[in-house]
Amino acid sequence: MNRTPISLASPLTSIADVGPKRVEKLSRMGIHSILDLLYYFPFRYEDRRSGAKIAHLAPETSRGFIARVRSIRKRSLRNLRVPLIEADLEDETGTVRAVWFGQEYLLKTLPENASAFFFGKAEVSSFDGRLSVRSPVVERIDPEKKGQKSFHINRIVPVYHEAEGLGSTFFRKTIGTVLATLWGTDFDPVPRSVLEPLGLPTWFLSLVEIHFPKDLNGSGDTQSLLETDYPPRKRFIFEEFFFLEFLMGHKKREVQCTPRSTPYQIARDARRRFLESLPFLPTKAQERAFEEVQNDLETPQPMNRLLMGDVGSGKTLVAAWGIYLATSSGFQAAFMAPTEILAQQHFRTLGSLLGPHGIRTALLTHAIKGSERRALMEDSYMGNIELVIGTHALIQEALSFKRLGFIVVDEQHKFGVEQRKILIGKGETPDVLVMTATPIPRSLALSYFGDLDISILDEKPPGRRPVETRLLASTEEGDFWDTEIRPSVDRGEQVYVVYPVIDSSAVKELKDATTMWGALSQKWPDIAVGLLTGRMTSDEKEEMMNRVEAGLVKVLVATTVIEVGVDVPNATVMVVENAERFGLAQLHQLRGRVGRGDLPGRFFLIPGNGVSGEGIDRLRVLTRSDDGFRIAEEDLRTRGPGEFLGTRQSGLPPFKVADLVRDAPLLEEARRSSHAFLEMASEGGSEKTWEWTTLMNFIRNRFPDVAEWLLVR
Ligand code: ADP
Ligand code: MG
Repeated sequence: MNRTPISLASPLTSIADVGPKRVEKLSRMGIHSILDLLYYFPFRYEDRRSGAKIAHLAPETSRGFIARVRSIRKRSLRNLRVPLIEADLEDETGTVRAVWFGQEYLLKTLPENASAFFFGKAEVSSFDGRLSVRSPVVERIDPEKKGQKSFHINRIVPVYHEAEGLGSTFFRKTIGTVLATLWGTDFDPVPRSVLEPLGLPTWFLSLVEIHFPKDLNGSGDTQSLLETDYPPRKRFIFEEFFFLEFLMGHKKREVQCTPRSTPYQIARDARRRFLESLPFLPTKAQERAFEEVQNDLETPQPMNRLLMGDVGSGKTLVAAWGIYLATSSGFQAAFMAPTEILAQQHFRTLGSLLGPHGIRTALLTHAIKGSERRALMEDSYMGNIELVIGTHALIQEALSFKRLGFIVVDEQHKFGVEQRKILIGKGETPDVLVMTATPIPRSLALSYFGDLDISILDEKPPGRRPVETRLLASTEEGDFWDTEIRPSVDRGEQVYVVYPVIDSSAVKELKDATTMWGALSQKWPDIAVGLLTGRMTSDEKEEMMNRVEAGLVKVLVATTVIEVGVDVPNATVMVVENAERFGLAQLHQLRGRVGRGDLPGRFFLIPGNGVSGEGIDRLRVLTRSDDGFRIAEEDLRTRGPGEFLGTRQSGLPPFKVADLVRDAPLLEEARRSSHAFLEMASEGGSEKTWEWTTLMNFIRNRFPDVAEWLLVR
């Protein structure tokens, strides 16, 4: 055998049969190296071990068998557009016919007398009642390579997603070849000290077994090889989590450990003075968060804290406390919010909370222009203002600070990593508080935000009534609009009506904002009905929101653009149509937009036609619970973690085999072991262990974007 020696670092072209063309195709699939190729896992398997004999093929079952081609021909049938390829196959037990549609190349690749492996479903032909195998998968048995065990037959074979014209056979053969040349390597990115106590198999063995399983998993079928408890798969699931947790832990330990440039000086009576100026008592949860923030500010390392709390839990007050401490120590603070409306609202609230303490506050949005803007820039640069609140206008170059030491990012998931980084770059080693109203189940938060410290506001200020939530079959039943909605408007209250899409061109079977705006405007010509969608410019949106806030618009028909930052105390009712199209956490956010003032709120969920019972049950969670964490867990369970994590993922290794929900226990395991490992590796001082270096190099090699992620706080 003349094999090119391949090592893990070899280029793809060092593999036989992989030339520049294939390299290009692989590269388009995101496969740039031998390692990437080895991590291209099959999505299913076929058990081709015990080949059936032709005599034993039975109708309506799929089997694999080896046969010789006795004859093969093309037939053109009148009622078929494509030619029919028909072959008679035989083995020592009998003959069977195979048919394919339009695959004319088979005449060449499968000549008479060729031996091949066939896999397909046998059927009784409607033409002549004979048994035939329909469109079987064919793989030639190469007579030249008799002695060698084939990658394709007589074993459990992997089946890969085909892409860029590269088929399953190509991957099977190429990956098989690479594995053969790497045979015996004891390389492992995950330290043995981590794997062994967990009983997880080593890297190379797992690779071999995930591509070419020796056996089925336990007593299962080929499906069992896709389950978490198949040891090689479990190892790779663990590996994905371990990489993530290692990166989180590393970032938290080292990257974020540069001490703050100037220490805080917190007066002993700071808390008392701050609390005395408030119009209310903080909740227990807020007190806890105050304490956590203060502790962070009293340690030499800058704070990196995530504050999670439901809509209305009073996160702004915690931010105000941090800003108060920062400015008392001579720092400036910046507060970034995702929308103009929200920035304005924070400007008002923080202004009244902090103004009495002599903290000068400015608002910077795209609407602030000309000389006003220039004056603000100068004041910030000179240190004449202590707090700048704004939208992403804050990250523009022209804004600079004299001594930016404290940053708050509200609704952090609405901002990209890049935007946070720019703002942080305007300070030296600023303390950072990011806030989110999308509660994330605790277990997930600990792991996925492992590089941050977490504060949770799991309690609401007293006196807030839960919004009455009702699940209705349809707005067409009875006189929904006239009986449920119109009276509220007549009492002077305001109403939101929310749709999943902007207009009817998007998805036909969904109700849409534009059509319903037209319909409601027509139904109630005496009422001002407004439309707010993401397609409007920010000026138009602001104009509309101003009209809503001023009470000029009574009914606002909208898409989810109103999800954050709309605060109209007079809004008491929200109707969400096609509610099944939204995440529970998102609906919960929307619900938080009503009943913010003194009047009780009502929230109507209206699913579309034909929503399954399961879909309805999912929505029903909202009628039973007002607890954002509970709702988030339900959402996580039914919809997966995507929507919670969002931009968080950018730069981090993606999960290819792991599932945060299904494999949660392994995630915990990975968190524990990565902590223990980092602890051990850092014991010997700054010198990193060999295992640590191997692991870090491996991750950086496979996921180049990680380098960037590690640098952004
Ligand atoms: P979040 O940003 O978490 O949704 P906010 O910070 O906007 O919530 O607070 C919601 C409302 O509750 C505000 O009107 C705020 O003034 C009020 N609030 C906050 N904390 C308290 C408290 N401890 N007691 C009474 N009201 C509070
Ligand atoms: Mg808020």
